[in-house]
Amino acid sequence: MAQQIEPNDLPVFEFHSGFWMNLHHTLYREAKQHAAVRPGPGKNAKSPQPVLKTIPQADGQLTQAEQRAWNEAVNYYAANFADKDLLFSTEMIQLKNQLGDFEGCNELSGIKQKTCDAGLPAKLTQVLEAAAPVYRAHQWPDHDRTNRRWIFRVAPLVIEQGVGLSQRLADIYRAPWPKAKIRVDVTAYANNVGAYTTLDPLRVTISSTDFRNQNSAALEALFHEASHGIAAPVQDAIIRECRQREKAIPRDLWHALIFYTTGEVIKPIMISEETVQSGSGDSASGNYTPYALREGLYKRGWDTYLQLLTRFWQPYLDGHASFDDAIARMVSSL
Ligand SMILES: [Zn+2]
Repeated sequence: MAQQIEPNDLPVFEFHSGFWMNLHHTLYREAKQHAAVRPGPGKNAKSPQPVLKTIPQADGQLTQAEQRAWNEAVNYYAANFADKDLLFSTEMIQLKNQLGDFEGCNELSGIKQKTCDAGLPAKLTQVLEAAAPVYRAHQWPDHDRTNRRWIFRVAPLVIEQGVGLSQRLADIYRAPWPKAKIRVDVTAYANNVGAYTTLDPLRVTISSTDFRNQNSAALEALFHEASHGIAAPVQDAIIRECRQREKAIPRDLWHALIFYTTGEVIKPIMISEETVQSGSGDSASGNYTPYALREGLYKRGWDTYLQLLTRFWQPYLDGHASFDDAIARMVSSL
C-alpha cells in the first residue's frame, strides 16, 4: 500500500484521486468505446444500442442489478456525452469541475446531506448514484491505488524541483505562476492524449495509467499541462506578430512552443536525477528524451516548428535573445 500523500505536503500542485471524477472519466471512456462500435450513419444518439461490453473487473462477476445500473450509466453517457469533448465542451468542463468539488461526498443529490447537493440534472444524478456502488465495489479500489501510486512516485520530484521549475517557466513566459496550488485530478482515464487542462479555474486532469505519463515523463506531463495556464503571453505575442506581418496565425505553434520549452527546462533535471540514481557521477551518461520527441509530435506536421524553435526560441531560453525578438523572428520565418 502506497504511503498516503496529502495534497498540502507538496508545493505547486495539489493532487486529488477523487471518486466521482474517476467514475465520470471511466463512464465517459466506456461510452466512447461503445459509441465507436455502433453503426455510423443514421444512428440516433438518443436511443443508443444496448451495451455489449461489461465492466472490466478483477474480482468476480457483476450481479444482474449491478450490470443493469452500470449499463444504464454507460448508455446515458453514450447518449449525452460521448460526442462531446472533455476539453472543448463547456458542459463537460463544468460537470468535471463540479464532480471534483464534491469528491468528499458519498452522494450527489444531497438527500442524506444537504451540502452534498451538486446541483446536477436529476437524471444524471440518479445515473451516477446508481453506478457509484458498482464502481466502488469493482473498479475504484484498483483505480484509486494506481492513482495514489502515481502521485507517490512523482511527489519527490515535485518537492525537489517544483518551485524552481515553476519560477523558471513563469520567467520564460513572462507570466506570473498562479499563487494558489494548481489542482491536479489524477484519474485512471483522462482523454485520448492522457491529460488535459481547463482554465478559469486552472485544473489539470491526468491519467495515472496512460503509458505516456509514467516514471520520469510524469513531471514533464505535469508542467506541460500547467503551462497551458500561463502561456497566454506567448500566444498573444504570436498573434500580434502575425497581424503586423499580415500572416495567417499558425495553428499550434504556441502549443509546440510549450512542448519544446517544458522539455528543454526539464531535460537537465532528469539527466542529473538519473545520474544520481545510477550513482555514476557522469552527467553524460544521463539520457532524457522530451515528450514531443519521444511521441513523434514534430514528425506529425510540426517539423517546421521544431526548426524555428531550435533556431530562434532556444537562444531566448539560453539568455542570448529577448522574448519579443525570438517570437518576431519565428513568425517572420514562417
Ligand atoms: Zn498541451
